[in-house]
Amino acid sequence: MTKATGNALIVGGGVAGMQAALDIAAQGFGVYIVERSPSIGGRMAMIDKTFPTLDCSACILTPKLSEVSRHPNIRILTNSEVGSVSGTAGNYKVRILKKARYVDEEKCSGCGDCARECPVEVPSEFDQGLGFRKAIYVPFPQATPNVYTVDMDNCIMCNRCVKVCEREAIDLEMVDEIVEFDVGAIVVATGAQLFDVSKYPRLGYSQYDNVINAMEFERLSNAAGPTGGHLMRLSDGKIPKSIGFIQCVGARDVQKGVPYCSRICCMYSIKNAVMAMEHNPDAEVWVYYADIRAFGKGFEEFYEMAKARFGVRFLRGRVAEVMQGSHSGNLVVKVEDTETSEVRLIEHEMIIVSPGMIPPEGMSKLARKLGLPTTDDGYIEIEHSFFGPVATKDPGVFVCGMADGPKDIPDSVSAGSAAAMKATIILANGAE
Ligand SMILES: Cc1cc2nc3c(=O)[nH]c(=O)nc-3n(C[C@H](O)[C@H](O)[C@H](O)COP(=O)(O)OP(=O)(O)OC[C@H]3O[C@@H](n4cnc5c(N)ncnc54)[C@H](O)[C@@H]3O)c2cc1C
Repeated sequence: MTKATGNALIVGGGVAGMQAALDIAAQGFGVYIVERSPSIGGRMAMIDKTFPTLDCSACILTPKLSEVSRHPNIRILTNSEVGSVSGTAGNYKVRILKKARYVDEEKCSGCGDCARECPVEVPSEFDQGLGFRKAIYVPFPQATPNVYTVDMDNCIMCNRCVKVCEREAIDLEMVDEIVEFDVGAIVVATGAQLFDVSKYPRLGYSQYDNVINAMEFERLSNAAGPTGGHLMRLSDGKIPKSIGFIQCVGARDVQKGVPYCSRICCMYSIKNAVMAMEHNPDAEVWVYYADIRAFGKGFEEFYEMAKARFGVRFLRGRVAEVMQGSHSGNLVVKVEDTETSEVRLIEHEMIIVSPGMIPPEGMSKLARKLGLPTTDDGYIEIEHSFFGPVATKDPGVFVCGMADGPKDIPDSVSAGSAAAMKATIILANGAE
């Protein structure tokens, strides 16, 4: 038996990776979180409210972000990706490519003087391109670490940020680094991404301003989002009085999308339909669905409440087409109501398409570096769905959250804790 080195690597700093890191660190082991974006937090940081309780997502996540950043056993490497991994369970050598941030993480206080001075504005990725950020930025106010990053693709090298920074933290000559360390166990927590709904041109996304996707809706309805939480249409800023949600776009579709159910879209759309009614109780909100999959704790009750208390209307049928007829920017949904076999044309002022989930960009490359097989759908393959739901082919590498398939937050957090438990068994005992 080889003795473990006492450290673990977590790839991906979303809610699943954060939970795994906290649980490993709480047992006295060291943890490196390698996150490719400038902040940990993942998708939960972008979400407005969470189903089925409608808790404020940021209010739950923010204390976890600071717990991770303050934990003495956790080191966060942002703007970083796995370069290579060698070795076996209990003894891995890891090389990380840490991309230059152009801001010294030790010196930056997060005061924001640099961003106020920066003359360049570009669409914010965090706000799904609906708001703007500067070329030196933090992605969101609770970003962790709370350190600015220079986006070199858009920086015009005017040096205004450098001059205004009292702490002399900005170094536009900074170069990428290679960071090397040893770990005994690895947890993959890279999450998933949205299916590109523009692959269904008949639904009007990316053709009509008032057809948006679910993640864009999350940012539009968020008080900290680009409209200050005013749910308005992109074409004219009008508050929509009639909204349609279109389900299963790119999911359960063997022709154009992915064959599997993405598990979260029914619930996030019911949540967003309720939120739309909360924003405007006089609105008429419809959900066009194939089946409603409300399988989790409290989900069925939430679905019933959406209908009974908020008056959300549910129509069973796959939408054939979304048309924009007039200059009003209104949209007409053509759908067959499969309960009555009637083809209906229903007008809305805003449409939200609900994309299925797919593996994150770079998943197959990462899997190759880790020597892990992926499923036909491109997620990390788990050892056994009953007895090894977080285990992989490699006895020292575990997987959690959406990295092995779509999951909601409670299931992602449970899997994070399970992966942490498995990883610490290796760290404590070494590999067999
Ligand atoms: C529109 C929408 C609304 C939702 N609403 C809810 C809700 O109300 N309630 C609920 O329970 N769930 C909701 N979900 C689901 C929720 O987002 C997920 O359950 C949760 O984000 C999963 O966490 P994760 O850590 O697995 O993945 P993520 O949150 O996706 O985090 C993965 C992290 O890994 C990083 N990463 C990716 N690849 C790499 C790499 N190669 N190297 C390093 N880092 C990498 C990413 O940058 C990211 O930070 C919603 C999802 C969507 C799309």
